[in-house]
Amino acid sequence: MTLPILLSPSILSADFTRLGDQLKEAEQAGADWFHIDVMDGHFVPNLTMGPFIVETCRRATSLPLDVHLMIEAPERLLTAFGDAGADWLTVHQETCPHLHRTLETIRGLGMKAGASLNPSTPATTLSEVLPYLDLVLIMTVDPGFSGGKYIRLLEKIRTVRTWRDQGLTSARVAVDGGITPNTAPEVVQAGADVLIAATAVFRHAEGIRAGLQSLRASIRQAQP
Ligand code: ZN
Repeated sequence: MTLPILLSPSILSADFTRLGDQLKEAEQAGADWFHIDVMDGHFVPNLTMGPFIVETCRRATSLPLDVHLMIEAPERLLTAFGDAGADWLTVHQETCPHLHRTLETIRGLGMKAGASLNPSTPATTLSEVLPYLDLVLIMTVDPGFSGGKYIRLLEKIRTVRTWRDQGLTSARVAVDGGITPNTAPEVVQAGADVLIAATAVFRHAEGIRAGLQSLRASIRQAQP
């Protein structure tokens, strides 16, 4: 099933001294969602933001908030992120021994449920929870920092997309890490339909609008 390709700028590279303005600018320039990278200093080395920032974004935009929990024991904080205004909540497969329960809890809280895979984690680790997934997030960098080196995982993207095309899941196929106008066409051709980009949008030399436009232009011909 082909769905519109969505751009979800990650606020990790935004200028936090004027976050509200940056969100508005991205929204006006055609962002579809906003991606919020939550890191705990344990599962990944970096430490970033929590429910408070999600709440701040909720007040600044009406676009869906796509929250990516790179944290250990995420089940402790699902309600807090839901209350803060997350629309999509993604946990890491590697942090969830009871992934089925965690995904059901997220949906029970009224959010869409996602599972993310580190570059070294095979897609097949999700094969038993496909009906419970609204999104599969494939990390294309080692998670932890904005601006990491892109890791090519086209086969993994194809695997997840094929599951959806076969009707085994309705999950959107998201890629996160190193997405630029150079890498976007190949991930879209492989089947990705949510592109998460931080530096390519918020640190584009000509501004946020130019960053989003050049990503859009790069994928225009690439859709399978
Ligand atoms: Zn992310």
